[in-house]
Amino acid sequence: METLDTPIAAASAPFDPALLPELFGRLKTRSEVLRREGASERIARLRKLSQWIENNRTRIQQAMYADFRKPAEEVDMSEIYVSQVELKHTMQHLAQWMRSRRVGTPLAMMGTKGWVQPEPKGVVLIIAPWNYPFYLAVDPLTSALAAGNCCILKPSEMTPATSVLIRQMVEEVFDPSEVVVCEGDKDVSTALLKLPFDHIFFTGSPQVGKIVMRAAAEHLTSVTLELGGKSPVLVDETAHLRDAAEKIVWGKFLNAGQTCVAPDYLLVHEKVRDKLIDEIRAATRRLHDPTGEGVQQSNTFARIVNKHHFQRVSKLLEEGQRLGGILEMGGIVDSSDNFIEPTLLAEVPVEAGLWKEEIFGPVLPLRTYSTLMEAVDFINDRPRPLALYLFSRSAENRRYVLKRAPAGGVALNDTIIHLMHPELPFGGLGNSGMGRAHGRYGFDSFSNLKAVLKQRVGQTSIKLLYPPYTPKVKQM
Ligand code: NAD
Repeated sequence: METLDTPIAAASAPFDPALLPELFGRLKTRSEVLRREGASERIARLRKLSQWIENNRTRIQQAMYADFRKPAEEVDMSEIYVSQVELKHTMQHLAQWMRSRRVGTPLAMMGTKGWVQPEPKGVVLIIAPWNYPFYLAVDPLTSALAAGNCCILKPSEMTPATSVLIRQMVEEVFDPSEVVVCEGDKDVSTALLKLPFDHIFFTGSPQVGKIVMRAAAEHLTSVTLELGGKSPVLVDETAHLRDAAEKIVWGKFLNAGQTCVAPDYLLVHEKVRDKLIDEIRAATRRLHDPTGEGVQQSNTFARIVNKHHFQRVSKLLEEGQRLGGILEMGGIVDSSDNFIEPTLLAEVPVEAGLWKEEIFGPVLPLRTYSTLMEAVDFINDRPRPLALYLFSRSAENRRYVLKRAPAGGVALNDTIIHLMHPELPFGGLGNSGMGRAHGRYGFDSFSNLKAVLKQRVGQTSIKLLYPPYTPKVKQM
């Protein structure tokens, strides 16, 4: 019987950039055919993808277990389920999204009709990260295909088993003149970025986001940048502390903290600091160490993806402690296993790297505040976050924070789950990105929203403005 650690047969096949011009030409030609298709052909493509995912659940689980021991249940929830939600929502609404959108007619345009007609952009590039290596490839692919584009997809080289699986999936599901996977590292990305794509959808770090945007500028290609950064979680004095602690623990330690919208740091009102810490300890035991043998022995907790990131997060933790941070929970690191224990570090001085760089691991620095203004100023002194979490039972406090702290998305009294809502746009601002993904917003990102105005033959609304100019026109 196959288990999660059954060895995975196929090897990664880095793409040969010399083949790119011919490949790109093939997709470009085909994209003119896709442009003329209706909703049913696009839905058929999405349905095949959804069925493949349903039929290959074990292969998907095995790939991510091989890559970073991601627990099968987490794969089910945060890779497969969310992909299927996006696919099903898109299939259900696509015909409506594709329809022309009538607009109103102002007095000066009397007699005309105006509408917005979404059309495919053409050939698009998707560059995916490693942290949700399957979902973050399938999710934008769903929107790209829904919008009627041909697509080249480059998965992350850091999760090689999932990269191979994504290539196999695409080969099994799609026509090679419509969707192609180019496996490889930044050299393959660099070669891809030289091509004149009609849109680039990049998910990854802000540093590489800048490289992508610079390359896109060469061809004036539009971009969606889904980046990362430091997402704060704020717990005020009115919060339900047990509830807040459990949701913070779940959101922070899911995928071992390697989530773009993971709570990066915790701001807590000074009056409830100690009680919240107790609740976080208790919630971590309940969720990740129910037998008391230690989180490392449990089967609920992923590993850091590779040695480089293991050392990076370990160093941040070590520096935070050296500068005076108080270890309130966790702290065990084991390099033989790329394991870092769920860790809570209080009173970390602001000069520590933990406050500066995106942590992307299971270490949560904590800081107390006495006024909401102070907490909001602390957040706003840093680059714009992708997500902001507020735990509060005070409507006044919620309004205060929502009005004053810009963020890509907000969850009130929860973490992470706003990104699972298919009707909500997902994306960042400033350092956390630009453009929007998911559902109708993802469809629009991969579409050209063509503006169309229909005039009556032999008439125009602006005849008065034609030359020769009368004194009346000159007065305008
Ligand atoms: P990364 O930027 O290192 O890599 C992302 C992709 O870019 C990979 O496919 C990689 O091969 C490619 N790449 C790397 N260097 C490149 C270069 N010089 N030129 C061109 N391409 C290059 O990011 P990562 O480490 O895979 O992912 C972690 C980051 O992604 C974190 O910052 C996280 O917050 C962010 N992220 C954001 C979202 C979101 O939806 N906003 C989701 C997941 C991850």
